[in-house]
Amino acid sequence: MQLNKLEIKGFKSFGDKITINFNEGVTAIVGPNGCGKSNVVDAIRWVLGEQSTRTLRSEKMENIIFNGTKARKPANLAEVSLTFDNTKNVLPTEFSQVTITRKLYRTGESEYRLNDVQCRLKDITDLFLDTGVGSDSYSIIELKMIDEIIANKEGSRRALFEEASGISKYKLRKKQTFNKLKDTETDLSRVEDLLFEIE
Ligand code: ATP
Repeated sequence: MQLNKLEIKGFKSFGDKITINFNEGVTAIVGPNGCGKSNVVDAIRWVLGEQSTRTLRSEKMENIIFNGTKARKPANLAEVSLTFDNTKNVLPTEFSQVTITRKLYRTGESEYRLNDVQCRLKDITDLFLDTGVGSDSYSIIELKMIDEIIANKEGSRRALFEEASGISKYKLRKKQTFNKLKDTETDLSRVEDLLFEIE
């Protein structure tokens, strides 16, 4: 699946809107220390639904919004969009091009969009499940992840193979079903208590 385009506005060091087009072949981002190279990767993780501020190298989520410079006012909104080519139908949707967008306002409100239609974070995570693309999948590999995979911390090597072989979604569905079952058992026991009281 080809990444087509990344658009960033008001995210971390990017006060102005920037667009990165990923053409065929390898795209490399080069620049001096501290110029914002890692912020580009953070933006990709973030739009894919990353919730961990530690992973995003930020103390709190609000800090990912551009906080201004001497010459510029801080932004009120961080917005990142990532566009994929889906002509090979890797993503389970009829669209041949898929754009996901995440917004965060300084007021704390946030929003996810799928091809410009508001959606839930779950819709985005479900769409990318088992594709290898996702905030915590193997499409973005950092140095510390390589260490974790080698050391096999918390079964990370197994998780990687499960995602690559496409069984993560079934494991997730199993977990969701067990949770529902547990909730239903609790409800049932409550109903039994009520019946007992009425009788
Ligand atoms: P290195 O090569 O040292 O890893 P890098 O090019 O990857 O650096 P980043 O870590 O991506 O750089 O960017 C760091 C810069 O981003 C710092 O200058 C920091 O001040 C800036 N930055 C981070 N968050 C914000 C924010 N919310 N608003 C404005 N600037 C920010």
